[in-house]
Amino acid sequence: MNIILMGPPGAGKGTQAAYIKKEFPIPHISTGDMFREAVQNGTPMGLEAKKYMDAGELVPDQVTIGIVEDRLSMPDCSPGFLLDGFPRTIVQAEALDEVLKKLGKKLDVALNISVPEDVLTARMVGRVFCTSCKTVYNTIFNPTTIAGVCDKCGGKLEQRNDDKAETVKNRIKVYNEQTQPLLAYYAQQGNLVTVDGQKDPREVFQDVRALLERLG
Ligand code: ADP
Ligand code: ADP
Ligand code: ZN
Repeated sequence: MNIILMGPPGAGKGTQAAYIKKEFPIPHISTGDMFREAVQNGTPMGLEAKKYMDAGELVPDQVTIGIVEDRLSMPDCSPGFLLDGFPRTIVQAEALDEVLKKLGKKLDVALNISVPEDVLTARMVGRVFCTSCKTVYNTIFNPTTIAGVCDKCGGKLEQRNDDKAETVKNRIKVYNEQTQPLLAYYAQQGNLVTVDGQKDPREVFQDVRALLERLG
């Protein structure tokens, strides 16, 4: 099954991806996670990406398309893939169509998680992650038992650099300008399905699962 997860920053793409991969054995490909890993490892690509990420801007298309193309060409993607946070521009969407064609693959669904803007801001400023196992929590909507400590592994929780209020505002603006037009792009292809992302995460997943099961 070849899936794209779409939605504004903070919509719950990563959270739903974690549920999906437990039940559907396909690799979770998050460009945000790949960039954060590159930043952490201090690679040249990471250093380049960090400038854009910290400002809440998009990493240039050329860089982003290159890493996704390499990743989708790997053999573990043959049963399918779950793309999270890519594509984010029309140029990326067109490049993805090309790559899939070249690899003989076809998109099954562009799954859009819809959440109003004021809710997104609250979610992002409350988002924290475990520095050790990378599990994502929320200080308001999904708190750990002990504040600042991961429930799963006892690791230390931190806020993402780009989840500060000022950066969050710009990321939503960038989404509205550059990524939102993709909804029409995938609607036109007949691949767009939207779920209500305002419900409890488990309820959102019930809807997502029902949809994916229907797709087979
Ligand atoms: P969120 O899940 O909150 O939307 P991500 O983890 O997907 O955030 O992305 C974090 C940052 O990584 C983005 O703000 C952007 O700078 C960069 N990034 C991730 N995916 C892409 C992409 N497809 N194109 C350009 N930049 C990207
Ligand atoms: P994205 O990957 O789209 O940026 P995340 O999955 O990281 O979004 O979720 C953003 C924040 O909102 C996280 O702190 C997460 O715990 C929380 N969250 C995710 N889904 C929901 C939901 N349905 N209701 C409330 N909070 C949620
Ligand atoms: Zn942890």
